[in-house]
Amino acid sequence: MTIPTVTLPDGTKVPALGLGTWHMGEAAGRAGAEAAVLRKGIELGLSLIDTAEMYADGGSEKVVGEAIKGQRERVFLVSKVMPQNASSSGVVSHCEASLRRLGTDHLDLYLLHWPGRYPLEQTIAAFETLRAAGKIRAWGVSNFDAGDMEEVLATPHGKNCATNQVLYHPDERGIEFDLLPWCRSQKMPVMAYSPLGQAGKLLRSPALKAVAQRHDASPAQIAIAWSLRDGNTIAIPKSADPAHLRENARAAAISLSAADLAEIDRVHKPPARKMSLGML
Ligand code: NDP
Repeated sequence: MTIPTVTLPDGTKVPALGLGTWHMGEAAGRAGAEAAVLRKGIELGLSLIDTAEMYADGGSEKVVGEAIKGQRERVFLVSKVMPQNASSSGVVSHCEASLRRLGTDHLDLYLLHWPGRYPLEQTIAAFETLRAAGKIRAWGVSNFDAGDMEEVLATPHGKNCATNQVLYHPDERGIEFDLLPWCRSQKMPVMAYSPLGQAGKLLRSPALKAVAQRHDASPAQIAIAWSLRDGNTIAIPKSADPAHLRENARAAAISLSAADLAEIDRVHKPPARKMSLGML
């Protein structure tokens, strides 16, 4: 399966469709099956994997470590540090702990999970230390609003920020007003988290259902195709179900027409004013 790519500011090409892992690693009895689904995803070309030290208290990273064993070089690996650990020394020691759980010597991308109390200069300087040591290839942020991104850019080395991972799906479009255009102006792709709206009411949307019918697809596939429509967004739906995973991978081949997008807009309206950033 051919998965389109998105280019990071440093020129690295990554798959536009990856794999989320929140809630994986929460039950020992399911870990083997979860790792098997991730391996299947890598085979299908969904080789960008998003995890975090927070998920299942490191358990998700362990599942990912199991999944990438013997094929580390095929994967673009993303993890996140919690803001309460994002001091100069904390970033380094927490990254090293993540690397141990993941069974690798480097992350491709390390994100600050959400804004916190440590000065950004400190966290970013620690990211740069990790980069110089080869422990991470790039760094970025998550849950940062447009104003927060200006602060990042004003920080020494702030221009090295590779991405901002934010909540984005047809019912959460606030970023289209300011954050998305800002990131575009910086040539910085956005990572859309919860692109399926966590399989809640979004997947029952009459607009998504109608568009899905025209494409002989599912509402979940339309939600994914919608999130990828600008060619500059990376979506990371999570699935621990092999059938869902295959369905999600096929969504990368769906191209939505202007009429499809207009139908979605009528029900899931684009923002007309500044909205505060949605966050889970
Ligand atoms: P998603 O929008 O990806 O939805 C996941 C849910 O959708 C699961 O219940 C899954 O069930 C279900 N699902 C997956 N595929 C299908 C399908 N084809 N049809 C129907 N249901 C489907 O939510 P997440 O919150 O998990 O977001 C994705 C990832 O983003 C996370 O896993 C995490 O990696 C990241 N994230 C980052 C955050 C941050 O603060 N930076 C916050 C939240 C998420 P099943 O497993 O049974 O398929």
